[in-house]
Amino acid sequence: MQIIHTIAELRHIRPTLGPELALVPTMGALHEGHRSLLHRARKECAAVAATIFVNPLQFAPTEDLARYPRTFEADCYMLEAEGVDLLFAPTPAEMYPAGNTTILHVREVEDRLDGASRPGHFAGVATVVAKLFNLIAPTHAFFGQKDAAQLAVLRQMVRDLNFNLELIACPTIRDPDGLALSSRNRYLTLEERSHALLLSRTLRHIEARLDEGVRSSGVLFAEAHELLKADPTVTLDYLAIVDPDTLVPVASATPGTLIAIAASVGTTRLIDNLLAP
Ligand code: AMP
Repeated sequence: MQIIHTIAELRHIRPTLGPELALVPTMGALHEGHRSLLHRARKECAAVAATIFVNPLQFAPTEDLARYPRTFEADCYMLEAEGVDLLFAPTPAEMYPAGNTTILHVREVEDRLDGASRPGHFAGVATVVAKLFNLIAPTHAFFGQKDAAQLAVLRQMVRDLNFNLELIACPTIRDPDGLALSSRNRYLTLEERSHALLLSRTLRHIEARLDEGVRSSGVLFAEAHELLKADPTVTLDYLAIVDPDTLVPVASATPGTLIAIAASVGTTRLIDNLLAP
């Protein structure tokens, strides 16, 4: 695996990777969720590029940029083991040199779900992903379904800006007890982790009710809120039943409807979701 940190090196190497290239963008602190993306990319494409970049533009000043986990050596080990051809790991100064002023807004969708609670977050995500698409020119880009609102923003961006690539959503990887894997899980104490299971448990309850034929968002909300309010350790940010592309609420869930949840446990913000059966 070639490891590079500069755009100059990237420009030099990109043509040697051939026409079909997968991109797996990450912020590092890699876990089995990331591995599943890398694995799928390796299976589907002739060459694979991964990026590790903790993007300052998508963190608010009050958020966890400085303490975001960084495990570069272990990450390289996983990338190498998954057969990645190129790792691009730029510095913030490389991506945002002084005088850089362009920010990409994916209007409307960027203000929904996590975008509502984290103003500016999705503009930061869209800007960095657009830059990576321009720099790396992938034919395929792999993202996790776990970040469902991010997927909606990026799908819209790919459509609107005519990026010539296929965006592929990969299923959420979980611990055996149901907790969706996240780099932020390592912030949780053992005690907090057991409370964090309420997110996936609530989604599983909703899924079971959907299987039983309960489709009304109102009914599903009422039952989910009953479960959620039983644990004051879990501070709900949102529970949303929405169209997966626009993130606009729907009155009743149909197959493919996105049911998404975000909550804080202690100081850690967690998200999870399911697509209605
Ligand atoms: P991050 O490093 O958190 O920016 O995540 C990089 C990519 O991995 C994103 O496309 C995420 O959606 C994806 N991802 C994160 N957690 C998981 C998971 N548990 N299962 C599948 N994909 C994931």
